[in-house]
Amino acid sequence: MNGSAQLSPYPGIKCVILRSHAVSSGRVRLSSGDPDSPPVIECRLLESAEDVATLVRGIEAVRAIVNTDPIAKLIEVEVTPGAVEGGASLDVAEFVRSHTEPSCHPIGTCRMGVDEDAVVDPELRVRGTENLWIADASIMPDAISANLNAPCMMIGAKLGRQLVAKGRWRTA
Ligand SMILES: Cc1cc2nc3c(=O)[nH]c(=O)nc-3n(C[C@H](O)[C@H](O)[C@H](O)COP(=O)(O)OP(=O)(O)OC[C@H]3O[C@@H](n4cnc5c(N)ncnc54)[C@H](O)[C@@H]3O)c2cc1C
Repeated sequence: MNGSAQLSPYPGIKCVILRSHAVSSGRVRLSSGDPDSPPVIECRLLESAEDVATLVRGIEAVRAIVNTDPIAKLIEVEVTPGAVEGGASLDVAEFVRSHTEPSCHPIGTCRMGVDEDAVVDPELRVRGTENLWIADASIMPDAISANLNAPCMMIGAKLGRQLVAKGRWRTA
């Protein structure tokens, strides 16, 4: 592919299955004491068998939908996962393990909370500091069942209003 996407030479539909509330959890670590070193990001997407099982059920649900009329009449063949060469049935769990990718919605690396492991308090102040707040996807304590852009704007707007009300931030 050389990095360029190519269209399939036939019409088709694609269904993407998303596991919103994954049980598996990744981590971000420092790679060294040098602040310019890139962090070590471990997604660990399918560490939990529960996540694999949920994605397998998602594929089964999509198959049930597309095998139901009227859409079933329009579909000639399932391309992916489909069947492996030789007609043997594919291990769907194995397919999930080899094809799952992270979506563009990482959250929770500076989780809000009141416990010792929380990075920011419920007012988004970095614990142990006086004048440092975080307002982005990193503070989410748990995954949401939606895309992140609007919630991130809401988090920023709420913190901004809070700081203005307390006289901690002046807008132009
Ligand atoms: C390809 C892609 C598609 C997406 N599609 C959607 C979608 O359709 N709908 C949706 O709701 N969400 C979508 N998202 C998710 C959404 O865009 C992000 O979750 C959201 O923008 C996260 O907001 P944030 O404020 O946490 O981080 P960001 O939006 O990443 O903001 C971080 C900011 O910090 C700046 N920055 C970084 N380092 C420094 C530094 N050292 N000093 C100063 N500034 C710095 C960056 O330039 C950036 O402006 C998508 C994400 C991606 C990557």
